[in-house]
Order: sequence, then structure tokens, then C-alpha cells
Amino acid sequence: MKDLAEGVQRFQREVFPAKAELFVHLADNHRPTTLFIGCSDARVVPELICGSEPGELFVVRTAGNLVPAHTPGADGIAASIEYAVAVLGVSDIVVCGHSACGAMSALAEGHDLTAAPAVADWLRHADASQARAGSTHPGEVAALVRQNVLAQLANLVTHPSVARALATHTLTLHGWVYDIATGTVEELDPATGRGTPLTA
Ligand code: ZN
Repeated sequence: MKDLAEGVQRFQREVFPAKAELFVHLADNHRPTTLFIGCSDARVVPELICGSEPGELFVVRTAGNLVPAHTPGADGIAASIEYAVAVLGVSDIVVCGHSACGAMSALAEGHDLTAAPAVADWLRHADASQARAGSTHPGEVAALVRQNVLAQLANLVTHPSVARALATHTLTLHGWVYDIATGTVEELDPATGRGTPLTA
């Protein structure tokens, strides 16, 4: 905790003054361009990977970057998606998986999750991901990571705000996989599932 308090002091002393004008602007303006859905994994830092400034990314992070399909009823993830798309009007959504994902490893390698029942329940949202990966690459984490990103893109489309924005061509969906060891990002082709290095 001491590290965090020191970090706050360093932010106030060094980072904030250098971007003071931006923060004054952001105090009354919230217009992010992109909804970034990533894993809660501490090693996957959206703003760092994308070189984004405060105010640019609307971020949702869940274990395994899972996006449950739309169901009626209160749901924090659905509310965040709807707010980003329908209220803030983001033009892009990125679902970003990553190498060595704990959630995907647990599924691919069949870890015992009896001591973590909430995790086990949550990971059921990756049933379709496993089904997609299982037939061709059973047990392979990297393949499941890729298929999981594609399955979550499909789940996103079930959210009415996303479906509406796609129908009016005001929104584009992207599937990425980030590699922790090399810092590379692949963009996935939803049709083939194949990844190519992300280019600007
Ligand atoms: Zn992860």
C-alpha cells in the first residue's frame, strides 16, 4: 500500500502538472473513442499497450475478458457496454485477449476450481469459446485465447446497443491478442480466426 501512496504523490508532483491542461479539459468532457474490453490480469494495461491518454479509452476488464451475452436484468458489464456505445458514442470496441491468461489456462488445462466456485461459474461464459477451440486444438491455451476473443465478439452483438450501432454502421468491432513476453498485438480475422500483426 505504501507503494501506491508514493505513486499517488509522484503522480501529483510529476505527471499531473505536465498534463494539467488535459485534465482541466477532461473535468467537463468525457468523449472516449473506444470501448476496450480486456482481461483483469495485472500485466495487461490497456492505456500502456495503446499509448492512450486519459479520456481516450473506456475500459471494462473482466477475468478472461469475458463478455456475457445479453440477458434481461441488471448486469454491470452490460450497463458499461450500453453506456459506452449508446451514451458516449464510441466508434470502436476492442476485445483483447492475451498470452498466458490464467482464466483460459484453467479451462484449457482443466484446473481444479472447487476452491474458487465463483471463478468456475464465471468461466462458464467461455463454454462457446471452448467448443470453438476444442475440436481442432484441444488443450492448447493459445488457441483457446484466440477462439475466446472471437466468441466474446459474437456475444457483444447480442447487446441491443451494439446491434443498433452496427446496423447504422457507426461502430466497428475488433479482436486482438496481446503477447506479454514480446509486446506484440495480433488482430484476429473473425471469418478465419487467423491473427496478423496489428498495423496502424
Ligand atoms: Zn487473462
